[in-house]
Amino acid sequence: MAEPAVELESVEVRYGAVAAVRGLSLRVGEGEIVGLIGPNGAGKSTTLNAIMGVVHPHAGDIRLRGSSIRKRSPESIARRGLALVPEGRRIFAEFTVEENLRLGLASGRKRNGGNPLDRAYELFPVLRDFRRRPAGALSGGQQQQLAIGRALVSEPEVLLLDEPSLGLAPLAVESVFEALRGIREHGVTILLVEQRALHAVALADRTHVLVGGELRLTLNRTDAGDTDKIVSAYLSS
Ligand code: ATP
Repeated sequence: MAEPAVELESVEVRYGAVAAVRGLSLRVGEGEIVGLIGPNGAGKSTTLNAIMGVVHPHAGDIRLRGSSIRKRSPESIARRGLALVPEGRRIFAEFTVEENLRLGLASGRKRNGGNPLDRAYELFPVLRDFRRRPAGALSGGQQQQLAIGRALVSEPEVLLLDEPSLGLAPLAVESVFEALRGIREHGVTILLVEQRALHAVALADRTHVLVGGELRLTLNRTDAGDTDKIVSAYLSS
């Protein structure tokens, strides 16, 4: 069997006395979308940050295609083909759209030639139209497209997204989820942290519910309409 793109085995992350992630094991197969949902403080962002090397686990292991990345820096992990779209987008409002996209090239990964920004422009044509505008002049939905586009220019094999629909109007939410489907069609593996649980469950191949740093339940696409199941998992702390 092929090695999973990303694998967590019994991962523990602590901030001082706070155990943010406890004994978490999960796998994301090549080309899959896996969702991670749960109430505030469940450890979802910490899990993404641990995979990206922003925080290091105190125990357990994190593997990328079978090789441990547990002690690596974010730069080294980015060079191995991972990219993170952080919560809150973190775009530079005074820089132009194109300048923001160029910042995504800083990971220093070897690329396949051509204009690397085209990857973002093909998926989000509005970014090409507005490439000379300051990023701060874009709508919330367009800024999220820019944040995703900036991650894509490094041609990641695995994309980690932290609440990409946060604060967006309903139409913009739909377009973010549509974009994620398009990104999957390009063969990119996705680990998605989302507050919009039903959207995440409907999109992902599997969705894990995290509560109090622990994996409580795994949902399939067929559970997308089952709000009761999701709510009772959230309340199981
Ligand atoms: P949210 O949906 O609110 O973003 P989350 O599921 O992403 O929540 P985390 O942000 O990973 O949860 O937080 C998990 C736990 O770790 C919480 O108790 C939080 O207060 C704590 N925590 C997160 N970051 C830090 C930090 N830098 N220092 C100390 N504690 C932290």
